[in-house]
Amino acid sequence: MSDSAIREQICRCGASLFRRGLTFGSTGNISVRLPDGGFLMTPTNASLGELDPAKLSRLDAKGNLLSGDKPTKEAFLHRVMYGQRDGANAVVHLHSTHSVAVSCLHGIDHHDCLPPLTAYYVMRVGRLPLVPYYPPGDESLALAVEKLAGDHHAVLLSNHGPVVAGTSLDNAMYATEELEETAKLFLLLRGEKTRPLTAEQVEELRKAHGLW
Ligand code: ZN
Repeated sequence: MSDSAIREQICRCGASLFRRGLTFGSTGNISVRLPDGGFLMTPTNASLGELDPAKLSRLDAKGNLLSGDKPTKEAFLHRVMYGQRDGANAVVHLHSTHSVAVSCLHGIDHHDCLPPLTAYYVMRVGRLPLVPYYPPGDESLALAVEKLAGDHHAVLLSNHGPVVAGTSLDNAMYATEELEETAKLFLLLRGEKTRPLTAEQVEELRKAHGLW
């Protein structure tokens, strides 16, 4: 895919997320790893609903800004994901409401925040660990995400939101959306007796669809 096609794709994804209420204000950020090892990233203080392809931050492999506006202040979340996952070609981070709601709940399993309610959740997201709370920009937050990113392509930041890596931007988007919808289902079903998939059913899906 050409540089300009990737820029258009990032802007289209941002607009789609914004239109559907999955992001708001200037929250949320998207990045794509380029064939030369560099990155295209959404700029700081930009609405994902109104991204300008020409102003996306173009970074080299070390994260130095080559052109465009300054990258998102949350660039470090993307950097640690790529650093730990060779197969990651895109990262999406949102403050999407239902996922954030789950990240604020008392007593959820820190090793796996959501039950395997549907097959698609298991196939797209898998296990979702909770990253302890740190103030935005705190170096400890980067380290905490880095520690988990090798084993998990999706993590949930406490009182903040999800960070999801994918082998492509489409896959990162699909997984982020699956996570948000599952968080919504989980909240809808709170207080109800539910039948999540069994451990055997989850294992069968993992074997057949091998999460990366
Ligand atoms: Zn954030």
